[in-house]
Amino acid sequence: MVTALRDRVLWLRYLPPEGRFLNVYMDQNNKCNLRCRMCGFSDPRVAALAKYDLPRELYDSIARQLFPRAAYLALSLMTEPFMTRDFPDRLAAVREHEVPFSDIITNGTLLTARAIEKMIDARINRLTVSIDGGTKELYEHIRRGARFENVVRNIFLLQSMKRERGATLPRLRINHVLCDANIHAFDDFLAQRIKGLAPVQPQLDNNGRALAKLSEGNWWLRAIATLAARRPGPPASSCLIHVKTSPTSAVLPPTSP
Ligand code: SF4
Repeated sequence: MVTALRDRVLWLRYLPPEGRFLNVYMDQNNKCNLRCRMCGFSDPRVAALAKYDLPRELYDSIARQLFPRAAYLALSLMTEPFMTRDFPDRLAAVREHEVPFSDIITNGTLLTARAIEKMIDARINRLTVSIDGGTKELYEHIRRGARFENVVRNIFLLQSMKRERGATLPRLRINHVLCDANIHAFDDFLAQRIKGLAPVQPQLDNNGRALAKLSEGNWWLRAIATLAARRPGPPASSCLIHVKTSPTSAVLPPTSP
């Protein structure tokens, strides 16, 4: 009974080091440079809100108080972190306080060599880039305001800078929101669009626990089958495909010209 409970508690990851009992999730602004169709930022009421950046002093104060107790730290969640001008400079606090696992989620459009350098220096554990749509047309239809080739170029820049520096971190994860509008292009995305980027290790879900809940709908099952067929033997270390789902109605396919 105790063992089962312990396994349940530990389904996400390892036991945190002594004294680190917090999972810290934070956004540092209320901004995004894109207007993705499935996102609240595409709502004009959200776009009309006054723009805000977490002041640097407040960030530094939070870092001093919480980071030494954090086992896990997500530096962005629902907004685009690189919209905060000095976001790359803030990352040094992660290394300073030796946070064991740190995470950044981004749309990848604003990655620069300087930002990548700071992430590598800070030993950020994981960078998740959201790319939905296996083709340029689909991607740019869904992620309004982004350019497919720019994001792919930025990801290649990350991987090449890591190679040059002999760095294994940050590990790259790609979030790919699947829906009826883009499932037909998913196989092409895996086979062509991110070819050469890194070995692909699909992460279907957290230990497959959510699969049962999400198993309604043929497109999801097809995605699972596609990913399962591509799962390599030895675990690849550099790139994960993390599949998420989106309500079908949120993302309608592009209309034919
Ligand atoms: S990049 Fe993320 S936060 Fe920005 S509009 Fe798209 S889904 Fe929303």
